[in-house]
Amino acid sequence: MVWPLTLIDACYFLAALLFILGLKRMSSPRTARVGIVWAGVGMVLAVVATLLLPDMAHRELIIAAVLIGVAAAWWTGRRVAMTAMPQMVALYNGMGGGAAAAIGACELIGHVQDFAVLRGVAAPATYPLTPESWSPLHGMIAIVPLSPVALALGVLGALIGSVSFSGSLIAFAKLQGWLDRRFVFPGQRAVNMLVLAGAVAIGAMLVAGHVTLALIGVFFALALLFGVLMTLPIGGADMPVVISLYNAFTGLAVAFEGYVLHNEAMIIAGMVVGAAGTLLTQLMAKAMNRSIGNVLFGSFGAGAGTATQAIAGSQKPIEAADAAVMMAYAERVVVVPGYGMAVAQAQHKVWEFAQLLIARGVKVKFAIHPVAGRMPGHMNVLLAEAGVPYDLIVDMEDINPEFPVTDVALVIGANDVVNPVAKTDPASPIYGMPILDVADARHVIVVKRGKGTGFAGIENALFYADNARMLYGDGQAAAAQLVSELKTLDG
Ligand code: NDP
Repeated sequence: MVWPLTLIDACYFLAALLFILGLKRMSSPRTARVGIVWAGVGMVLAVVATLLLPDMAHRELIIAAVLIGVAAAWWTGRRVAMTAMPQMVALYNGMGGGAAAAIGACELIGHVQDFAVLRGVAAPATYPLTPESWSPLHGMIAIVPLSPVALALGVLGALIGSVSFSGSLIAFAKLQGWLDRRFVFPGQRAVNMLVLAGAVAIGAMLVAGHVTLALIGVFFALALLFGVLMTLPIGGADMPVVISLYNAFTGLAVAFEGYVLHNEAMIIAGMVVGAAGTLLTQLMAKAMNRSIGNVLFGSFGAGAGTATQAIAGSQKPIEAADAAVMMAYAERVVVVPGYGMAVAQAQHKVWEFAQLLIARGVKVKFAIHPVAGRMPGHMNVLLAEAGVPYDLIVDMEDINPEFPVTDVALVIGANDVVNPVAKTDPASPIYGMPILDVADARHVIVVKRGKGTGFAGIENALFYADNARMLYGDGQAAAAQLVSELKTLDG
């Protein structure tokens, strides 16, 4: 069964509308779930409409591929632990970039074949016969190679999509712990630039019309290599920026390839993702104190090394009972969650503890660092899931001035985002990153299992500060202990 083009266009329009409205709803945790469903329905609609296009070839193969993809995504999506979500997002994002690059590859190879047919060195029989490609006037297939604009956008989309694909795979491997966090070698930046320049130069040759299979192969090899090389040195605190950058790249690549395929739904979906990803990259770059130019032109990991400043003092432990008393009689408590809270799934217990404090008249707030956890918005999602009201959740810029008047800052599973060396040690890999100024609070209580470092792999001077006490233990167990100690106190 095939549908008339007007009906298919209407489906694409509706799908695009659902993408935009869905994304709008995703901007608030309250409406995010519905937003995801809307965008998903839009995607199903776009895929079904595409399958019903009159000139669609190899329908069975495409349906088989879609079914395999859906089954794999369904299975992994249901099984994935909340803590493994960031690498899964990186992987799926990479798949989007790879799909866009594959479209670019098919179109470029098709372009080579079109010219071969036009020159009479290949037979048109390899093409699927469609009503549009059959010329009634000449009784032969009308071969229409890509227009210069489509060729240029197709090459650009293929370049960006390939970089996003291989780069996201490396990001996935790093987040999964399969690859060293920072892989550097002498002359790395020069090599990266050379590879990028090579890919761009060959891309320009393709756009100029020198389209051969050999050039296409080298072009893709260089683009994929650049994605790998660009991501290898990234470690420390730069990962969030590069993940959101690849997100934007995937969106742009899809939009460009959508132009090549004359597929409006792809163009709109790609632009929406590209724009959202670009804004997120800007936000993340701002949070890491980097300019977008700095990010784009290869300064990742620049100046990063190992911390050189020695940290004086020792870590001073505290018992849960004492910590609970300290907070029970405080006027203001700020809870600072980090990746460890996600690992421990401690958000429900933490919120239960906060509610008990609030019931005693303590003013409790939750401080969110933009890159806390392992994906943008990670902490907001967890706190929303636990039922923490949004007006208690405060962003870094707004909470930092409040730390000097805070009695107790309760840091739970956060490390890099509260590490003062980001301000004091230029040799540190997180130097320059704005942090939550918890050390300014009167007392700091840090919940963590032991002396483990954070994502950046460096010591934290906060844990040795005079006003800091360490409550060692798993985040959930420690929060549960705090709850029971507070309940004992209440009688
Ligand atoms: P960190 O990764 O710096 O620190 C987490 C801390 O949690 C560790 O020191 C660990 O110490 C502790 N921890 C681990 N498991 C538990 C547990 N079960 N119970 C209690 N504590 C636990 O987290 P932050 O949130 O402070 O910083 C995020 C880092 O991740 C930043 O460097 C950021 O750049 C990076 N990143 C962020 C991304 C994002 O988009 N948000 C993406 C990729 C990277 P111990 O082992 O002693 O318990």
